[in-house]
Amino acid sequence: MDIAILFLIIALSLLVIMFYADIFPKCSLCNRVKTRACFKIHKTSGILPGYKGNISVCRKCSRLYNIYNLNDYIKVRNIRKKAEMNVNLDL
Ligand SMILES: [Zn+2]
Repeated sequence: MDIAILFLIIALSLLVIMFYADIFPKCSLCNRVKTRACFKIHKTSGILPGYKGNISVCRKCSRLYNIYNLNDYIKVRNIRKKAEMNVNLDL
């Protein structure tokens, strides 16, 4: 009985660790960790586990940058990268 409960606890904790990035995703634009309900876009982009393999955009950022799908996010990311490059060149 005790061994069964222990095994159950270990299995549950492993599940939580495995799906932690899906339960609490990190926004790719504002870098904040929120619950899954706060996110509008949440997609797997690669084979890497954790935050690196996911693209997530929270509702606040999607409203701020008018992001409705993944292509909009890529556009915003490219604009940001270009702006950061220009700032670095000015310095
Ligand atoms: Zn965000």
